[in-house]
This record gives sequence, structure tokens and C-alpha cells, in this order.
Amino acid sequence: MTYFVDVIIPIPVERFFTYAITEEEAQFIKPGMRIAVPFGKSKIYTALAYSLHNVPPIHYEAKEIHQILDDEPIVTVAQIKFWEWIASYYMCAIGEVYKAALPSGFLLESETLVCLNADVEVEEAELKDDDFLVYEALQYQASISIQDINAIVDKKNILPIIKRLLAKDIVVLKEEIVEQYKPKLVKCIRLKEAYTSEEALQELLGTLSRARKQREVILSLFTLSAVTGKSVKVTDLMAKSGVSSAVIKSLVTKEILEEFYVQQDRVEYDGEEGVASGVLNTYQADAFHNIKSSFEKHTVTLLHGVTSSGKTEIYVKLIEEVIAQGKQVLYLLPEIALTAQLIHRLQNYFAEKVSVFHSKYTVNERIEVWNNVLNNKSKAQIVLGARSAMFLPFQNLGLIVVDEEHETTFKQHDPAPRYQARDAAIVLASQFKANVLLGSATPSLESYYNAIQEKYGYVVLNRRYGDVLMPDMELVDIKEAHRKKRMKGHFSERLIKEIEKTLEEKEQIILFQNRRGYAPILECNTCGHSPQCPNCDVSLTYHQFKNQLRCHYCGYHMAMQVKCLACGSDDLDTKGFGTEQIEEELKELFPKASVARMDLDATRGKHAHEKIITAFEQHEIDILVGTQMVTKGLDFRNITLVGVMNADNLINFPDFRAHERSFQLLQQVAGRAGRTKKRGKVLIQTYNPYHQILQQVTVNDYEHMSKEQLQERYLYKYPPFYKLIKITFKDKDYAKVNKASDWFATSMRNSFQNHVLGPEFPPVSRIRNYYLKNVLLKVPPKQSLQKTKKVLTKINTSFSSIPEFKSVRVLINVDVY
Ligand code: ADP
Ligand code: ZN
Ligand code: ZN
Repeated sequence: MTYFVDVIIPIPVERFFTYAITEEEAQFIKPGMRIAVPFGKSKIYTALAYSLHNVPPIHYEAKEIHQILDDEPIVTVAQIKFWEWIASYYMCAIGEVYKAALPSGFLLESETLVCLNADVEVEEAELKDDDFLVYEALQYQASISIQDINAIVDKKNILPIIKRLLAKDIVVLKEEIVEQYKPKLVKCIRLKEAYTSEEALQELLGTLSRARKQREVILSLFTLSAVTGKSVKVTDLMAKSGVSSAVIKSLVTKEILEEFYVQQDRVEYDGEEGVASGVLNTYQADAFHNIKSSFEKHTVTLLHGVTSSGKTEIYVKLIEEVIAQGKQVLYLLPEIALTAQLIHRLQNYFAEKVSVFHSKYTVNERIEVWNNVLNNKSKAQIVLGARSAMFLPFQNLGLIVVDEEHETTFKQHDPAPRYQARDAAIVLASQFKANVLLGSATPSLESYYNAIQEKYGYVVLNRRYGDVLMPDMELVDIKEAHRKKRMKGHFSERLIKEIEKTLEEKEQIILFQNRRGYAPILECNTCGHSPQCPNCDVSLTYHQFKNQLRCHYCGYHMAMQVKCLACGSDDLDTKGFGTEQIEEELKELFPKASVARMDLDATRGKHAHEKIITAFEQHEIDILVGTQMVTKGLDFRNITLVGVMNADNLINFPDFRAHERSFQLLQQVAGRAGRTKKRGKVLIQTYNPYHQILQQVTVNDYEHMSKEQLQERYLYKYPPFYKLIKITFKDKDYAKVNKASDWFATSMRNSFQNHVLGPEFPPVSRIRNYYLKNVLLKVPPKQSLQKTKKVLTKINTSFSSIPEFKSVRVLINVDVY
């Protein structure tokens, strides 16, 4: 009797691979265990056992496996089923799903680099010979590849060696050292060493007897640290003593107090018991009951609740019930909304039952969460994470919450699997007969359509918590203002006046501009030339702070030009504007205000993002300027004014969803204003104040917006009525991209006629020296999606057999939006 195992290998080939195993191995291996297998000439892959059988492969001789890596499956049968669905729906190989689903630490590959862990002391005598050889080699070089290790120990199978070294923490894998998770830093305050003694303190209070406020600060600080025994946060001190940050600052300047940062760890919970969740108000309670009765008929329910209506508290109540039944909960969020604020809020209720799964966590932390979920530990009963968290090995899922379900970052575009996490979550839930709650203040038209078609349940919550009013929104016509010369830089008089007023009242302001850098284009006034990226088909963006021109697609940069590269003229001008320019103008217009910027450039450094948020929270910043980053997840009490610098570049974006997205984004950013008693104000500057979408945004008219947009989608054959599949062709050779895409589109037209659009170059038609061309397929509601994909796959197979097109990459993206 011969024995074989079919395995999944993490490569983009659409089939399983068969290996020979012994009878003993066959008894031991279960589907979902990892097995190291040889592949090609010298590669070793971490494969995953899929099935066992006795049928030898027909076309090749089965090789033997190297080694079994697990004692128990680390992937469940349900997961593999889910992967198969993803591979088939999103048209990719199951190996690609496998690769995306497992934390990279699980997938030792022959390309993985191994590095020494500097923090660990090694008992050299205790190492096995082979392990020592690797350890020794690492004394001389920073990292070595698996191939190097093969050579060093002169063995083919070195995975056990690496496994042992990893287990002892002697080495780390490369991915681990590049991406470290950012801890939250909180600004705290304490007395300088010199004043900590009883006498010195008394003396200090004596000298401050006439500085009443400063004295109050010292006394409050004293009480606070005595009561809590912990570091005192600047915000707490301000609240307790009732003084402004300026008074505290002055004591710091006088060297009586000093500031320091305390790391607030999000991964470890400090062990306190969770507190009971709050009492829902009547609107929330109604919504809660409606959701529960909706779940009796619909497994998927959409909660349409305006910003700040208290959706999170409703999720909390639902989660409480589900975990009381011993089931697991998955709480999905877009990456940028996954803030420390929310994590703390949930930990406050559920203590250590909450685990966070996040791309910024280290490999080891992710593996830990994986194992906790796999073993159904109470520690990971609630998993909070971005889209990749849906790949965890759930045992007993009871509920999936998809918060901010309209966010486009739930869709992964590159690399494959190109899945939409919200949609895939619904499939995942159905495997467990679990419920799904989609939450949003501005639902995606897809979900909304499903709701009004009664495919999903639908629950509305249209009051803000505490009966705070929706912000007062106003459109400012800057075309008119420009004509009447009533603009200072990019600020209308109206906006300036509101900013002044807000600053006077000591309240905070958010300004939104959807573009980073200083100005997108540098243009020569003499010949019209503007510098282009040599690798991509875009103009370079001017960044004043670094005095550079940068490409936002590939990172190429050069020094700012003083003279035109084409004609030598020094009459250069910048066109358009970004966050940097707004920041600069603000500093001129409001020299007394403290201004900060939050965008991709300002948040690159290690704790940069957290520091800005903390500083804003503690009111060290009056005005925060930023890109989309300021629109999400920030829940601060003191923001009463939100300004949108220019709404037009959102609306005019060339995409069929531009209007829907503009509405969502503007509502979202407006929602940052006035989250407490005082009504917030939102000013939207635009050249086009009569635009339908802007009108609808100002009166919060989701219903009309969606009705009109759905009509347009119907008319022009777009989702949710038609499905879209995009096929992208990629090659360094311009002519080849054209020829290949033409060939493909022609074959498609034979089957799908006029539902094939293109080929067409995208707005940026070359990125990193690769030319791109797209073909779009619209799939009518009555046409079988499965058959459509079969035809596409067939065309793709013939295509790849044409030698001329061998170098052309074909990327298929199903539901590309
Ligand atoms: P949403 O997610 O709908 O934007 P949140 O859940 O963030 O709204 O709630 C807005 C604010 O109202 C939060 O600061 C939250 O703490 C508060 N809040 C909401 N519901 C309650 C409640 N039932 N009891 C106390 N505070 C609540
Ligand atoms: Zn010129
Ligand atoms: Zn570029």
C-alpha cells in the first residue's frame, strides 16, 4: 500500500501537489498540519496538508516530504473551506489565500532571512551542533538566508534547526524586525527630583503662595499621585486643578515640573476586571431590540446610525450576549479606525477577553492570537482587527461586527487574494451560522440596496447620543470669494472668521484637505513644463518641508528645482495645494494658535501618529490639518469647528463611486464636530455650492443621495446591479501591453459582447516602470457569475500559452470597488 498527501503550497498555482508519505506518517498527518516539502530544484516550502489518499499522481513521480512540522492541525477544516470559497470567488489560487491567511512566522520559506535576537543571552554549550553553526555564522553577518544555512550545516532540511532557534528566542525572522508595533505614548507630568522631599515641597508651596494657580497645580498633582499611585497624565492634572496647559507649561519652564512619556501598552491588558457596560438610552435600546429581532429573520443586519449615535455601545451589548453563550466574536474595522481609543474602550468592558490582530503587531504577537483563537481560549474570545483578522482559526464564531462597513479599505487590491472583507465575512459567518452586523453612518450603496431589498435586516438610529445636535453645515462659495478678492490664500473670510471665533472660545478645529505635500504640481510659467516622475506617469508633488519633488506612487524624489528643466526659466509656479501649504498659511494667519498636521508624511516616524493624537487630546494643538486620517475614529470632546478646504477634488474624481464617496467622507469628517453639548459647525469650501451631492451632505440627506445614486447606477449598469471584474495587464514594454490587452479584450467580446469595456489606460498609466492597461467586464444580474468566471479562466489559459505574452502579468480583480 502506498500513501500520499495532497498539500497546499503558498504559490500562485491553481492546484494541489501530491507527496509520498510512509504509512506511519499517514497515520499521524491530519489536514491543516504544516509539512515541509521540497519543491523545484532546491526550494523548501511550508506546505499545508489538505487530504490523504492512496492514488499516485499521474504526471509526475511524487517526492517524499521533508518533515511534519506540527503535532496538531493549526488550520481548521472550516478555514480551508473558507479559503476555497475565496479562491474560487475572487479568482486566485488557494496557495495565495493560504499565504495571505497565515501570519508569516508560520510560513518558513527558503527566502526567509534569519537574524540574531540581540536581546537574548545564549548558553552556547547548550546548543546542538547544527544550531551552534548557525548561531556562529550570525556573529559575523546581520542576517542569513535559508540557502546559506543549508550550505553552512550541509543539510537539506534545516527547518527543525530554525524552529529550535526560534523557540529559544535566539533568532528572529526578518519580517519581525522591520515592522514593530507602535505603543501608545501618553504625556505625563511629575515634580522635579529636587522638590520631592517633604521640606522642599513645603518651601516650594511657600514661594508660590501668591501664584494661586501654580500652587493649585502642585497640590492637585500631589493628591492625584497619592490617590492613584500611578503616573499623572497632563489631561488629568488639567481637569483636577482647573488650569490651562499654559500654567503647567510655565511650571515646566521654571523647572519645577517635568514632562515624560509613559508607554501605554495595547497588547497586554493590565489585568483589571472589566466594568459593566453602560445603560442604553431609549433610541439605542430600541435599535438593540430591533437588531435582535431582525437577526431572527436575517443573519445579516445593517445598522444605519448617524455619527456619534452610540453604535459602539450597541455592539458592546450584542457582544456581551454572544460571549455569555461561550461563542467567539470578530469585530472588523478599517485599519485607520483601529485606534488605541477604541481598543481601550472595549478592554474597559471585556478586560482580557479582547485580542487585537493587526498588521503592525509583530509576527510573534500575531501567532499568539492565532493560537488563542484556535484553542478557543477566553483570552481571545473577542478579536478586534482589520480585514486580515477574518483569517483566524475560529472554532465557534457567534457574531461578526463590521464597523464602518462602507470603508473601501475592506477591499484588498494587491496582492491576491483580492477579497472584500465585508462580503467575505458574511460567507465566513454562514459557515458558523453566526450573525453579522454591518454598522455605518453612511452605508455603502451595496449594503443599503441589500437592506431595502430585504436581503439584509435594516435598523436605523438617527439621534446622536445625549441628543447632541447634528453639526450645522454650511457651504462657502469660494468662486465668488475669489472673484471679490475675499480670500487669504486658500481661506475664505467666512472660514477665517469661524476659526477666530473658535480659538477665542478655546475650542479646537480640524481642517481637512485630501492631498498631502505642499502643492501637487510645479509648473513653468514660460513653457508650461512640469517635472514628471521618471518611473511613473505622474507629475511630482512639491514638498516644502524637505524642499523636494516627490512621486506619491513610487517614492522617487529629487531636489526642488530653481529653474525649469525644459527651458531654464526661473518663473516657476505651484498649482493646487496640499496639507503642508495649509499648515503654513495657518501659521501666518493665526500666529498665536498651535497648529499641527496629520498625514502620511507627518506620521511616518515611530510613535508620530499617537503623539499627534495625544497632543490634540490634551489640547496642546488648537488646529489639526490633515488628510483622510483626520476623518476617522477620533472621538474628541472639544472640537467644535471642522473646515473642508476644497470639496471639489473629491467630487470630480474620475470614478463611478466618486459621489457616494464624497458624501461618505464629508459626513464622516463633519461627524468629528460637536460631539458634546455644543452644536458643532462645519464649513465646506467649494467652487460649486449648487452641486447636488454637497446640498445633500449639508442636510444629511442620505435617502435622496442613495436614491439618486442608485438610479444612476442602474442606468449606467454599475454595482449593485451589475458586477464588475477588472483585468489589468502589466508589462515594461508599452507595445506588448497594448497588444496583449487587445488580444484579451477581443476574446472576451466573443463571449460577452458589449459588456466588455476597454482596454484603456488608467489615469496613472505607468507605475514603477510598468505600463498598465485595464479591461472592465460588466456582469448583468441574470448572467451566471460562475460561468462568466469559467469563460474568463479559459481565455486566461489560452492567453498564457502564447509565447509572445509570456512576460505580461494578468491581474484579475472581482468586485473591484
Ligand atoms: P458612533 O460609533 O455611533 O459614532 P459612539 O459609540 O462613539 O458613536 O458614541 C459617541 C459617544 O457617546 C461616545 O463618547 C460614547 O462614549 C458616548 N455614549 C454612547 N452611548 C452611550 C451610553 N449608552 N452611555 C454613555 N455614553 C454613551
Ligand atoms: Zn519652462
Ligand atoms: Zn514614481
